[in-house]
Amino acid sequence: MIFYSEFDDFDAWKTALGSQGIELRRSEDIGNPADVRSALVWKPPHGFFQTFQNLELVVNLGAGVDALVDRPDLPNVPITRLSDPRMARMMAGFVLFAVTRYARNIPEFEKAQRDRRWHYIHPKDPADITVGVLGLGELGLEAAGECSRQGYRVLGWSRTPKDVEGIASSTGEEGLTAVLSQSDIVVCMLPKTPDTDNMLDADKLRLMKRGAFFINVSRGSVVDEPALIEALQSGRLGGATLDVFAKEPLSKDSALWGMENVLITPHLASIALPSSAAKQIAENLRRIGRNEAVLSRIDPRRGY
Ligand code: NDP
Repeated sequence: MIFYSEFDDFDAWKTALGSQGIELRRSEDIGNPADVRSALVWKPPHGFFQTFQNLELVVNLGAGVDALVDRPDLPNVPITRLSDPRMARMMAGFVLFAVTRYARNIPEFEKAQRDRRWHYIHPKDPADITVGVLGLGELGLEAAGECSRQGYRVLGWSRTPKDVEGIASSTGEEGLTAVLSQSDIVVCMLPKTPDTDNMLDADKLRLMKRGAFFINVSRGSVVDEPALIEALQSGRLGGATLDVFAKEPLSKDSALWGMENVLITPHLASIALPSSAAKQIAENLRRIGRNEAVLSRIDPRRGY
């Protein structure tokens, strides 16, 4: 199996996959490219796959597969995402932190502390705070469930209907309008696809409650960044926690850096965890060997 990622720890993946009987190699020590049967990759450079004519499986080193869709160098083999309960739990933890930070007025206390000011704000009952989660996929559902367990009123939105306890879910344009206009905190967990590109534009952002908070942990391209900046600068939105951006790394001259009501984290809300995800990869390689359908296969036409 060939490995490519500028972020992930090769040695950790080599050990984890080695314990499943899979030999992982970097491009530089690959030997004969014809021996490579599978690839574990995160944002490989264009042309990367051309060398490997005998690929049978491409595993995306994460949940968001947008970097692997629409690539002319990709052979016509199954592409899978990582589906790992521990990655979902880590994401849910990050979302819960960001939601709680707003629900419990933490940015105001941070500011008050800088002014040496004792600033009491009576905490709200979580049941009186509405959290809207856009995207109820593997990570979205876990995060929405975590918020529901904390007692928030949770609204969810997805392409197809969901029936999940504790989450009032909806679909379509009407559903999106309802979620945006009713939520105190909106969490974006939609994948990057042609359909979601710039979906949260100025008109959609205007539907949000005055002073509402926006959290984006999926892909920056889902939101119109200049419109978001405008909404945050004008005070129409109360604040934002942004882990992802239209262009990463976020450019030094982005207005977002200097905004007091914005928390920026560098795309790390959740990561692929070798020790737990290796089992899924091994299972899929066994399935390829038995000519069976692989798990967590993505649909390139749908884009996720
Ligand atoms: P999934 O692919 O499992 O789910 C995507 C969800 O979005 C589904 O509920 C899907 O609806 C919904 N959706 C997709 N397109 C539309 C649309 N056009 N209209 C309405 N709903 C739509 O994704 P995950 O939950 O696993 O992950 C979400 C995203 O998080 C990833 O795509 C990735 O970009 C991002 N991510 C970010 C990380 C970070 O560190 N910041 C780490 C890992 C992932 P349906 O259920 O009907 O199919």
